[in-house]
Amino acid sequence: MKRFLLLLLVPALTHAQLAPPVMSDKAKKIHAAALTIDTHADVPINMMKPGFDVAVEHDFEKDRSQIDFPRMIRGGMDGMFFAVYLGQGKRTEEANAEAKKKALAIFDKIHEAVKANPQTAGLATTSKDAYRLQKEGKRAVFIGMENGWPVGKDLANLKLYYDLGLRYITLSHSLNNDICDSSTDGDGPEFNGLSAFGEQVVKEMNRLGIMVDISHVSDSTFYDVIKLTKAPVIASHSSCRALCDVPRNMTDDMIKTLAQNGGVIQINFVPGFVKKPSEPHEMSLKALRLKIRQTDLSDADKKALRDEMKAINEKYKSDMPTVQDAVNHIEHVIKLTSVDHVGIGMDMDGGGEVIGLQDVSQIGAITEELVKRGYSAKDIEKIWGGNIMRVLDQVEKAAGNI
Ligand SMILES: [Zn+2]
Repeated sequence: MKRFLLLLLVPALTHAQLAPPVMSDKAKKIHAAALTIDTHADVPINMMKPGFDVAVEHDFEKDRSQIDFPRMIRGGMDGMFFAVYLGQGKRTEEANAEAKKKALAIFDKIHEAVKANPQTAGLATTSKDAYRLQKEGKRAVFIGMENGWPVGKDLANLKLYYDLGLRYITLSHSLNNDICDSSTDGDGPEFNGLSAFGEQVVKEMNRLGIMVDISHVSDSTFYDVIKLTKAPVIASHSSCRALCDVPRNMTDDMIKTLAQNGGVIQINFVPGFVKKPSEPHEMSLKALRLKIRQTDLSDADKKALRDEMKAINEKYKSDMPTVQDAVNHIEHVIKLTSVDHVGIGMDMDGGGEVIGLQDVSQIGAITEELVKRGYSAKDIEKIWGGNIMRVLDQVEKAAGNI
């Protein structure tokens, strides 16, 4: 009889869960108290796929999804910037209009998800919102835009997106656009930094109170932005080039310049940005990432991609970085500048995954590693959310909004 009762008490597990990270009591306490914010979550890519509900727990092993509200709660992830992401397409008037339409559909989807789950989550546009939602035990859903393509050639779109809750724009994605040069366009630089229109975009973002995100942009775009901006800027998901020499990462000089400007670099957990993979490994990953981002994948396609990912991971096992490798990037920024200019933007659902941290339920592993390295609760609070919330406040202040 007793055994029967015990069975009833065990909650029915419909999903296999990733193992919770091993954490000391001290790390657990610090993690629970800190406002934890991640500045780059690609979960809207999944949300736009039919049948995906962000309020329902998913199984990483089954579908490689890394973010949903139940797993955010389990992992102690208080808030994330959901990315309105569009890969760069043509720059014609029609294509720009189409990009705007698609971006607005993603905004709608995020708003709907928050509205449908008032007990679990709330839309956040300010640091006050984030701290209030944390107190209420709800997830803070911030909105960022990855790639300024949907701005088109019309500055008025910035106000439109701001009013929908947008608080940062990553000026470009992997290709140059009408705003600026990207760090990874195979055709090389087009403007040697910001375009004339891009300068107007940065000024208007400053005026409205939208954070300028320099992840993905070329080095010269970065320096152009720094010269022009009236407010601190962010790198929502970038790592350190000194530790992993790829153009997507920031050089030491860029990191120091960003810090002098009051900004913050949020460390990216995409394996190829944490630890440089061998060339054949990188080629396979690139091809796979492009396929994963497609929106019309059938279940069979998804399974094939999961198998492909597993096979790649197995083949290049020694290339795969760990949580320790990712925290090395955090520590590198601290040594270069101070603990005030670094944060976390893991790029989950966009390829962010290291050994020991595969979905959002496992983020305690970062706190554990920081505690092990001797960082104080105060330092860890800054890294996890304090710094990015300070920058958001500064950007709003510079715009005269608060
Ligand atoms: Zn990105």
